Amino acid sequence: MPEPTPITIDQIERAARKLAELRPAYAHILTFYAGVFVAQEENKGEIALDPIQLSSETIAHRLQEELPLVEVSQLRFDTAAGASLITQICRLIATHGTEIRDSAEKIAEALDRREFEPQQLFQGLLEDQDAYLPTTADRIGVDRKHLAFIGYHSIQPAIELCAVQLATHLDSDVVRRRSGCPVCGSSPGLALLAHEGRRVLCCSFCRHQWRAPRVFCALCENTQAGQLHYFFSEEEKDLRVDVCDHCRQYLKSVDTRELTRPLFPPLEQVASLHLDMIAAEKGYASGIELNLES
Ligand SMILES: [Zn+2]
Ligand SMILES: [Zn+2]
Repeated sequence: MPEPTPITIDQIERAARKLAELRPAYAHILTFYAGVFVAQEENKGEIALDPIQLSSETIAHRLQEELPLVEVSQLRFDTAAGASLITQICRLIATHGTEIRDSAEKIAEALDRREFEPQQLFQGLLEDQDAYLPTTADRIGVDRKHLAFIGYHSIQPAIELCAVQLATHLDSDVVRRRSGCPVCGSSPGLALLAHEGRRVLCCSFCRHQWRAPRVFCALCENTQAGQLHYFFSEEEKDLRVDVCDHCRQYLKSVDTRELTRPLFPPLEQVASLHLDMIAAEKGYASGIELNLES
């Protein structure tokens, strides 16, 4: 543990159905996201990537200093596979009519007219400082968050494949006492509580999973038990929100010990948006840089 269980398309669809039965208010949004996640799984077959080469000195140094193995900008994507996924995701958004439908239509049209290059969009997303994203969003008249959302989800399968390759340099039993993903340095998007008091964090960016201490803020590294609390609702005993009074941020947790549905963390994140609202009302901020729920 953690064992990044390879999930099948059938399991994603079953997990979405079970969650929708459990929380019917999410049925529509779960159908949409399940479509995106299934398309991402299928897209992996189209991706050709050279492995990210790190020297043994670099690996030893980064592990010693508890630094992430790479910067996000070192992750790779396959332009053709990403471009085909953009089209699919725009189509899914159009079918399911979420609030970003207008943006999706404009992005699909701009892509058809070759008004922007997917390769530059993907590169811009990985290189934080790049002005490409805001400039392009303004040029094609869409919200930059929507462009980032669609672009990120289109290269997510490649990012995940990079993370799987890089994770071969990590010992999955190590309990990490630093904030941030050991592969890419991004914040965790969800925590999983497992048997024998194990706590596993899921990266909000590359989906890598790693072990963390139980009494520990995974966002600011605070270990003061008096400043770390959680809340949950009586009706949903498998969900809770860990909050930190030091950094005033929160992280949602799923207790996997009693779970009877297949677990796919990105779906759990979607089907618990009510907890994000409660946390925000209580004055806690989300630690996720790229808000997947936009
Ligand atoms: Zn990561
Ligand atoms: Zn904190």
